[in-house]
Amino acid sequence: MSGASSGPVVVTTAADLREACSRLLREADAPLPSLGLVPTMGALHAGHAGLASAARAGNDVVVASIFVNPLQFGDHMDLERYPRTLDADLELLGRCGVDLVFVPSAAEMYPGGAPQVRIQSGPLADKFEGAARPGHFDGMLTVVAKLLHAALPAVEARYAAYFGQKDAQQLVLIRRMVSDLNFPVTIVAVPTVRANDGLALSSRNRFLSAAERNAALVLPRALKLLEERAARHEALDPDSVLDMLASERLVTLDYLEIVDPATLEPLAFNCRHVPFTGSALAVIAARVGPVRLIDNVRLGGEWAP
Ligand code: AMP
Repeated sequence: MSGASSGPVVVTTAADLREACSRLLREADAPLPSLGLVPTMGALHAGHAGLASAARAGNDVVVASIFVNPLQFGDHMDLERYPRTLDADLELLGRCGVDLVFVPSAAEMYPGGAPQVRIQSGPLADKFEGAARPGHFDGMLTVVAKLLHAALPAVEARYAAYFGQKDAQQLVLIRRMVSDLNFPVTIVAVPTVRANDGLALSSRNRFLSAAERNAALVLPRALKLLEERAARHEALDPDSVLDMLASERLVTLDYLEIVDPATLEPLAFNCRHVPFTGSALAVIAARVGPVRLIDNVRLGGEWAP
């Protein structure tokens, strides 16, 4: 266990995490203390800071984890080149007031090698990111299950975990896992943080050239257009948005769909030519240069807390 006087304490084993969480919860001056967990893969930016700050605002004890989970990468090269910036990450988490950072090795997380028993993500993972990245969501849910268990308070406490709305399908799947499998944790969704130009922050944005980044701005522009039409109760007319996306030659669209926010079932037909009412989610994914970008926006309605 280590930690500078001002920075967060770093622990690398589940046993040390449990002990440190218990100590901090016992020390908290609250009849029923609360613990907030922020799982990440590192290479942190202001989006992750948004999660950590939300956790800080709502809890007595805040734990972040940094683990690049090999199980959720189909492509070995993608795993190899995933950015690792631990020192800067710890500094950012310290600034957000995080108490503890869990930084396990792959051997600590998977002592028996790749796990034989995994969480099966089911039909919600058949499309969108699940279709583009086979096995990704099984790997993601398996590591999230393990992290939720690792940080589960061993003393009586409230327990919440924080995830970004940016990864909308991931969030829906985590909520389903927690509800279907009775995990004793509250899942809190945190709004997407964007750069000034509108691009959703992502650890992979650093791989975009200036021209690619400029071209990528068509994604938030497309979503904004849908959001504005929905707010005015106009027909969403997704075909016009598809035309706009097709005009950017550096952008290869994978999907743009208007779906039910909870089931991810397409609503596009109803939304196409009739005035928009109700609530939906527009999800988009595209390849821009070496990077696959995803983004989404809520149409007519708020995210569940
Ligand atoms: P990652 O480290 O990319 O696996 O992401 C860790 C968490 O940060 C996930 O819950 C993501 O949804 C969330 N996250 C990533 N980018 C953003 C963003 N731009 N705004 C809000 N949350 C984000």
